Amino acid sequence: MKCPFCSHMDDKVIDSRMSAEGMSIRRRRECLKCGKRFTTYEYVEDTPMMVVKRNGTRKRFDREKIKEGIMKACEKRPVSLDKIEEIIEEIAKELQKKADQEVKTTRIGTMVMERLYEIDEVAYVRFASVYRRFKDVSHFRKELEKFLG
Ligand SMILES: [Zn+2]
Repeated sequence: MKCPFCSHMDDKVIDSRMSAEGMSIRRRRECLKCGKRFTTYEYVEDTPMMVVKRNGTRKRFDREKIKEGIMKACEKRPVSLDKIEEIIEEIAKELQKKADQEVKTTRIGTMVMERLYEIDEVAYVRFASVYRRFKDVSHFRKELEKFLG
């Protein structure tokens, strides 16, 4: 693995852990050159899931893209990278249970929101505002009220 700090190609694995769902392995690595530590994830190759976008075009399900979106929403929030991985894994697993191999982006968005809602309200609202593209403020407020109770 390429070190994200110094780009050196050699490292040693300090710790490997299988996720609870058994679908990914998390590895803690130490760069042999600069000695810094980083984490990598390996995933079980599964059937390609197609994501149907709002405009009807299809793309391969890309967990990195979802991860990026969630990470953005969780910026400066007390949500760990492990927690984010857990969310994505749960979603990937749920999608695999589907009979067909297509899923709408809005469905994925909702699945992420459902989970963020329970973890961090700020991250939830951030994510929701991007994903739902709130048409107006009242809609957004309604969404806010859901967790403000
Ligand atoms: Zn390094």
